[in-house]
Amino acid sequence: MGTKGRQIIEARGIKIPELVKLLNKAFADEWLAYYQYWLGAKVAMGIPKEAVVAELLQHATDELRHAGMVADRIIQLGGTLLLEPKAWYEFTNCGYEKPDDPDVRVLLEQNIKGEQCAISVYKHLMDYTNDKDTVTYDMALQIMEDEIEHEEDLENIKDDIILMLGKKKKK
Ligand code: FE
Ligand code: FE
Ligand code: MG
Repeated sequence: MGTKGRQIIEARGIKIPELVKLLNKAFADEWLAYYQYWLGAKVAMGIPKEAVVAELLQHATDELRHAGMVADRIIQLGGTLLLEPKAWYEFTNCGYEKPDDPDVRVLLEQNIKGEQCAISVYKHLMDYTNDKDTVTYDMALQIMEDEIEHEEDLENIKDDIILMLGKKKKK
């Protein structure tokens, strides 16, 4: 059904089914990222455990919020959301890295990789919708800003760990 909002973006050359597919792929990524962070926070071991757990939990909350933002846009576009978790694996761009090593340094690396992938996913969505669908573009920009902050936060903890280990060695 052609709502006014959909007609406008179609007139500008957006193929809605194609856009919905890209959004569903991002939706799958967000759920997997949420779970990877949530589980990582449960199993994390090492130093600084508390700082890492707090950061992972905060990021998990953000990823779940992103899943909601993407879902709302898919529904606005008249699309169908992925209805089963098993579809997340079919659609994901960034995959899922199971936290089978609880070492905080390994968890940080795994999640940094995920954030870098997420940043390119939203960059692509922004390029795809630029000048054609400002609503999706704005949403992708908002989410990308969070993903950039996530990567930065994890890198900062990693740097703290490297600094801490370096100082111990000198003693
Ligand atoms: Fe996210
Ligand atoms: Fe993130
Ligand atoms: Mg953070």
